[in-house]
Amino acid sequence: MTSPALARSSDELIRAEEPVLAHNYHPLPVVVARAEGTWVEDVEGRRYLDMLAGYSALNFGHRNPVLIEAAHRQLDRLTLTSRAFHNDRLARFAESLAALTGLDMVLPMNTGAEAVESAVKVARKWAYEVKGVPADRATIVVADGNFHGRTTTIVSFSTDETARSGFGPFTPGFRVVPYNDLAALEAAVDETTAAVLIEPIQGEAGVVIPDEGYLGGVRDLTRRAGCLFIADEIQSGLGRTGRTLAVEHEEVVPDVLLLGKALGGGIVPVSAVVARREVLGVLRPGEHGSTFGGNPLAAAVGSAVVELLETGEFQRRAAELGVVLREGLTALLGRGVLGFRSRGLWAGVDVDPEIGTGREISERLMREGVLVKDTHGSTIRLAPPLTITEEELRSALGALEKTLTA
Ligand SMILES: *Cc1c(COP(=O)(O)O)cnc(C)c1O
Repeated sequence: MTSPALARSSDELIRAEEPVLAHNYHPLPVVVARAEGTWVEDVEGRRYLDMLAGYSALNFGHRNPVLIEAAHRQLDRLTLTSRAFHNDRLARFAESLAALTGLDMVLPMNTGAEAVESAVKVARKWAYEVKGVPADRATIVVADGNFHGRTTTIVSFSTDETARSGFGPFTPGFRVVPYNDLAALEAAVDETTAAVLIEPIQGEAGVVIPDEGYLGGVRDLTRRAGCLFIADEIQSGLGRTGRTLAVEHEEVVPDVLLLGKALGGGIVPVSAVVARREVLGVLRPGEHGSTFGGNPLAAAVGSAVVELLETGEFQRRAAELGVVLREGLTALLGRGVLGFRSRGLWAGVDVDPEIGTGREISERLMREGVLVKDTHGSTIRLAPPLTITEEELRSALGALEKTLTA
């Protein structure tokens, strides 16, 4: 235990990071020491409403008691086996996740980027073995403004120069088309296309919601073209938008679904590729794997997450409180807010740049006791835990109003 004499202040801890921690993030100057539900507390005991929720990794709140209990129980029995052996938690996790999503098979991984990488490999293999694309010719069509993770292959098809530049040479085999443009997608798909990979809502881009009909159009187009539809729901999935999956808003079932973030309940990294049997069935022993993927702790937490979602409570809360969020933001239009996009408890808010950059607004909100994250330019993103109360949500909106109109 740290003795009080050794305890360091937030400022000291921030300064201590500088020489020893890679500078790949520019965090807000808050040092979180504990958290519960919707609230986090810093080293000095100041409390903040968490309106980011770990980019949706904390959909069920910090230290959700049901999930913590499931993790504790598992910690006391078995944590890791590797996939060299079976473990007694994995079958139930895969069964429940397949049932929740209406798909057949699960490939358990850890981080979101790994799920995306795995899907790229599976789609290529499917193209060669099932579709009959000539060896090494498979292409995958993606959308501009995408965010699918940080590996070299994934940044190869990013259109964000900060994410890409300096990291080449890049992996070939990807075609980038404008998001929300079915004609451009149609033109890019040909007999070499293994898959179309898109986010049903682009989170990092600023919660960009495609026009109604786009996801259904992607489904029709990919079916006609005989290629796979891969939906990256790592951020949009698992309750955030008021449905279990964002694709449900258009009653679309993709061939391959990528999940992560909230799947780990804010406790451990858990991701998954969920797909039709014909697709994931292409993998045979030795062709893909992960030391930690499908470990019993991850499977126990992931199963508990699926059980929470089976109640429908979180989806309902996101839908109902999403109305409050939308109304609150609508009331700020012309009063510091230039525009916004929202679905469920998820919003990208374009702040008048005259008032400040997204970063400056985030810092001011922090001083009001509300944590958010800016994304490009003057856009801030709101994505509270789905456990937030109406009162808490209204107070966050009040803090935003105060910050923008002060
Ligand atoms: C966060 C995210 C990823 C990457 O997940 P990591 O766990 O950070 O690797 C991929 N796709 C989307 C849509 C995401 O939001």
